[in-house]
Amino acid sequence: MEIMVARYAGFCFGVERAIDIVKDAAKEYSSVVTFGPIIHNPQVVGELKDAGVATVKSLDEVSKDMSVVIRSHGIERKEAEFLIENAGNVVDAACPFVKKAQRAAARLSKSCDYIVILGESDHPEVKGIVSYIDIPYKVIESAEEVDALDYVEKYGFLAQTTQSISIFEKSAEKLKQKCSELSIARTICSATEKRQEAAIEVASKVEVMIVVGGKNSANTTRLYHLCKEICPHTYHIETVSELSVEMFQNISKVGLTAGASTPVYLLEKVREYILEVAR
Ligand code: SF4
Repeated sequence: MEIMVARYAGFCFGVERAIDIVKDAAKEYSSVVTFGPIIHNPQVVGELKDAGVATVKSLDEVSKDMSVVIRSHGIERKEAEFLIENAGNVVDAACPFVKKAQRAAARLSKSCDYIVILGESDHPEVKGIVSYIDIPYKVIESAEEVDALDYVEKYGFLAQTTQSISIFEKSAEKLKQKCSELSIARTICSATEKRQEAAIEVASKVEVMIVVGGKNSANTTRLYHLCKEICPHTYHIETVSELSVEMFQNISKVGLTAGASTPVYLLEKVREYILEVAR
């Protein structure tokens, strides 16, 4: 059996950076917590918890004796203001690409009549981005949703960092027909773009595709859906325990990829399992 691993898979720059920042903070301060899970990977969050870094889920839990680390996918403007006032220390581990999207939202908010964001409205990153918008806006999940929008003088358009490039471009084309002027902020991060392209390339050549990463991870779920469109036998798993021998029966080519919040060792365990099955 041949195993093809996507050229870009696993931890991205923003996730590695966030984990390094948490570990450094844990050395420097006592009582370090993250505000929300630092990344969307339950295994990594569990490891940090074992190392003494807990996760707080609401602002009510924050106190002056805590050093609070802002998660990789950012927080809302009011939450950041609250932490500065009420936490002992605030350590910002938000990914620079997420911060760029937040700044773009604030900028478009000053120059446009209405803003459209391609993303998942209930995702914490999107909640953070829209918190910087002071004018009417709408979060869309597909290009088709643009059809229902009214004509305005000037639309602003941006995306959650982990969205699909092709849906973004399709939505932008449709939005151009809905306004006199369209101001676009390209906020999909390069790590997402590279992982999507590499995953699609592998999925088009294999019979079974395995996508490893948190079920709560937007970028991993996006990889899964993109691969599933090309390779019907695509599975989204968090750990090797979700695999079974039956998945690989009579299969000669298997593809592997992992979301940007997935540590490489989890991907490696999956590869070892498949090699074992193939023996
Ligand atoms: S996927 Fe992109 S935006 Fe998200 S943490 Fe990684 S580099 Fe940053």
